[in-house]
This record gives sequence, C-alpha cells and structure tokens, in this order.
Amino acid sequence: MTIDAVVAGAGIWGSTVARRLADEGRKVLVVERRDAVGGNVRCEDSGGIEIHVYGSHIFHTHLPDVWKFVNRFVSFNGYQHKVLARFGGKTYFLPLGLALINKFFGVELSPSEVADFMSDEKHSSAIFDAFFRGYTSKQWGRPPEEIDPSIIKRVPVRSNYDINYFNDYWQGIPSDGYNSLFANLLDHPNIEVRCSTAFRLDNGVFKAGADVLPDVPVFYSGPIDELFGFKFGSLPWRTLRFEREELAVRDFQGTSVVNYTEASIPYTRIHEFKHYHPERKAVMDEARTVIMREYSAQWKEGDEPYYPVETEESLALLARYREEAAKLPNLRIGGRLGEYKYYDMDNSVASALGPIF
Ligand code: FAD
Ligand code: UDP
Repeated sequence: MTIDAVVAGAGIWGSTVARRLADEGRKVLVVERRDAVGGNVRCEDSGGIEIHVYGSHIFHTHLPDVWKFVNRFVSFNGYQHKVLARFGGKTYFLPLGLALINKFFGVELSPSEVADFMSDEKHSSAIFDAFFRGYTSKQWGRPPEEIDPSIIKRVPVRSNYDINYFNDYWQGIPSDGYNSLFANLLDHPNIEVRCSTAFRLDNGVFKAGADVLPDVPVFYSGPIDELFGFKFGSLPWRTLRFEREELAVRDFQGTSVVNYTEASIPYTRIHEFKHYHPERKAVMDEARTVIMREYSAQWKEGDEPYYPVETEESLALLARYREEAAKLPNLRIGGRLGEYKYYDMDNSVASALGPIF
C-alpha cells in the first residue's frame, strides 16, 4: 500500500487520527509498539469479565461531536460511575457532597446549609485531611500543596445527594467492550496496522522498526521526551503498578472502584471489573470476580508513563521538547503522552478530531 501518513501509537488518539485520515481518503500506516492496539484503554476478557488492563476506564464526555463520533463505532451500556472512598474503616460516596459530609460529621445538613458549614475551616480541613491528603500524596508522591489545584478539582463538589462521579452529560462502557471500539475504528481499507513495531527518530530519519519511513506526515502519540532520546532530561511522570487477583466470590466490594484514602494503605484504589457490565447477568451471578489493586510510583526510564506531573519546571522542559518538534515540519505530536496533558479519553478524541496539521 502507498502510504500518505503514519500514525505512531494506536491508543485512542492515534486510532481516531488514523480513522479520520482514512475517512478523508488517505492511506494510513499505524505502528504500535505493544503487541495489541488500544493503548491504555486496552482490555482483556476473563470468562465474560472485561478486565481494564491499565486501570478502570469509563467513557464520559460533554462534547457532542466526540459522543457522536464514538457512537459510530460502538454502543454504550448506560453504566453510571460511582466512586467510593474508604477512610477510618468506613465507606463513603466520594463526590464532595451531602452523602459524604453528612455521614462523616454525623449531621443532617440540607443543600442550603452545607456551604456555610463547610466554610468553617475546621470542617473543610477535616474533610481534606481524611479524603484528599493521603490519597494525593500516594498518587503524586508529594503533598497536595505541591500539585496543581486543577487536579484535585477533578473531584466534583456538590451541595446535593448526586453521587455520580462525573458531571458530564454522556457516559458509559461500550456494550461489547473497549476492544471492539478499536477494532471498529481501525477496520478500514485505507488503514494498515503493524503491532510490535516501534516508531523512532534515528538521526533525523523517521523509522518504524528497522524500516525507513517515506517522507509523509507522521502523527506521534508516544512520550515526547522519549522521541528525542531524553536529550534535555526526562519529563516527570507517574507510573503505576497493578496487582490482579481472581477470587471465588460473587461480589468482593459491591462496586467498581473503592479509593483507599489513608496514606498508611500502600495502594490508591481497588477495581472490581464485573460491575462495569451489570447487563451481563450470568457473569454478575457467578461466584467469581476479578479485582485489581493500583499502586502509584515515580516513573524511571523503562517504566510505562501514565500521568504527566505538571509543574513550572516540567512545563519549561516540555517547551524545549516542543521547540525540537517544531523543527520537524512533517511531525505532529498528540495524545496524553505526546502533549503531556492530563487528558481523559474524550479530550484525546477531541484533540484528534480538531486541527491536526
Ligand atoms: P495511550 O493510551 O497512552 O496510547 C499511546 C500508545 O502509543 C500506546 O499504545 C503506546 O504503546 C504507543 N506508543 C508509545 N510510543 C510509541 C512508539 N515509539 N512507537 C509506537 N507506538 C508507541 N480516561 C477516561 O476518559 N476515563 C477514565 O475512566 C480514565 N481512567 C484512567 C485510568 C488510569 C489509571 C489512567 C492512567 C488513565 C485513565 N484515563 C481515563 C485516561 C486515558 O487512559 C487517556 O486519556 C487515553 O488513553 C489517552 O490516549 P492516548 O492515545 O493519548 O494515549
Ligand atoms: N483525589 C483524592 N482522593 C480521592 C480521589 C481523588 O485526593 O479519593 C485527588 C487525587 O489528587 C487525584 C485527583 O483528585 O489524583 C483526581 O482524581 P481522579 O479520580 O480524577 O483521578 P484519576 O482517575 O484520573 O486517577
């Protein structure tokens, strides 16, 4: 096949770019260094339980174009995400709202009373110390005062009993699983996919594995610092370690995600995957479940990068890498690792559908 464009990385950003270009009539070569497509949204089947290999993924968005785009390829099961938080031996519904505050303080505040109650520093500090200080230190390896406030603000604050974890209008899990999203996105006569093939920049030459690539636009979604051989030093990332366990019980924790907010517990959260498909009744009823404990650590060379750590210094370093990238007119860098942004899946799709060259 004659190639008009190369996409490096078959995560949701790269797969969306590939599909967009293919729909426009361009022949696209997708190279993915892992042995399967899907990036961090990749799943595995375990007897009908959809295991999110790289941690729980719930598709949620308020962007109509993104929702319309993904619904071309899959239908969603209507799953609504709730996150519980375990602290002091008790379990709370996490959005910072009436369910959590009333249980934690043993009060019965109404929506009109809660703002005044929480304006008392004694109350807000108690909540912060219980639910945010320990979890944030484990997740980011630094105290909450040292991370960008926008990160903690991802957790909704509400004055009602709404325990939905997201504020977005649309959410769900693909009924046939996330892998079907990628299979359908990449199923196009203009797209060729090569897995277990790494893209790299070798002395100014673009290569896929050992092959020199033709002089065509390249859409790269791997880590930007790695592309340039970490020549200015590595950007700070957080990596994760997942411990999976299969248990002979019907239901381990009664919900898909429980956060462990105390610093003394080494993991941040436990995922229990069968809850993402309540419509799979036979699987729900089986005396078998799969859980996964998630641990966060500082990234070092060779680890998978998962979370960008945005600080003044890291953004200055990022700017240097971006200057390098701008010297390569055929190169466009995108996605969570390429743009070094705390993107959710819908942000990645929006970026891939937006202006890309
Ligand atoms: P990735 O998924 O990282 O894909 C990049 C791909 O590029 C990978 O497959 C990688 O192997 C490949 N690659 C890298 N370098 C090269 C190279 N040199 N050559 C070839 N291939 C290469 N978002 C949500 O919307 N909802 C959630 O619930 C949610 N939960 C999350 C939970 C966790 C634990 C994490 C870490 C993220 C979560 N996200 C969630 C965010 C979501 O994973 C990302 O927004 C999304 O995966 C980003 O897609 P991407 O294509 O940019 O990157
Ligand atoms: N957070 C926290 N306690 C919690 C949940 C979240 O302190 O129980 C903070 C923490 O700093 C986390 C951030 O809020 O990194 C964003 O949470 P989110 O659930 O969006 O994290 P993600 O699912 O993206 O890892």
